[in-house]
Amino acid sequence: TSVVDWAKSDAYHNSFLIPNDEVLDFVVKNSVDQGLPDIAVSPAQGKFLNLVAQSIGAKRILEVGTLGGYSSIWMGRALSEDGVLVTLELNEHHAKVARENFTKAGLDDKCKVVIGPAYESMTSLQPRIPFDLVFIDADKRTYPKYFAEAKRLVKKGGIIIVDNVVRYGQVNDLSVGDIDTIGIRELLAYIKEDKEIEATTIATVGERAFDGFLYAIRK
Ligand code: SAM
Repeated sequence: TSVVDWAKSDAYHNSFLIPNDEVLDFVVKNSVDQGLPDIAVSPAQGKFLNLVAQSIGAKRILEVGTLGGYSSIWMGRALSEDGVLVTLELNEHHAKVARENFTKAGLDDKCKVVIGPAYESMTSLQPRIPFDLVFIDADKRTYPKYFAEAKRLVKKGGIIIVDNVVRYGQVNDLSVGDIDTIGIRELLAYIKEDKEIEATTIATVGERAFDGFLYAIRK
């Protein structure tokens, strides 16, 4: 069998579905130029997050793991005038670059970065109105704790999306025992026992290779 170039597959689909975008090109280049790792969601995944946010008319979005704000901008663009996205980031340099990128995207007033360990930031949030959508995309080892907090912070009927839950099939390969992979397994076990969550894993392939999103609704 021939080896498929999955980045080319994404590029082909994107050529029909995702227009060229000067702002996002700037965001990617600015992030690379300032030394951020190349681990943002792909354009196709970013657009998926945008479409989810549009579908539910999200007005309040919480993100765990900002990096340069690439996924934040995709989701932030789905917000109405009075909408807000709060994104949590440990690394001050990443947060600085993200803020520059939000300015470039014209989203300064809607996208707010909170610097610090995301779990502490989450536990200190007491929102008057709960979030409509939470996107979790930070250190995998802490996913069970992030998910529990996300559940507290999201409204009934709200959505929690968790990135990188497939990891090239390492999650189901029990001979793989690193702490991040274990974090995903613990998250799955947590959800299995939680009667207020309904979820599924959508495994994906593309320029980010073999991975997947967990998509959950808080009942
Ligand atoms: N969501 C971003 C996107 O798609 O554009 C990518 C996020 S990147 C995969 C993960 C980010 O989480 C990194 O910027 C990293 O510094 C941050 N991070 C790691 N551990 C963290 C923690 N304990 N608290 C907050 N952020 C953390």
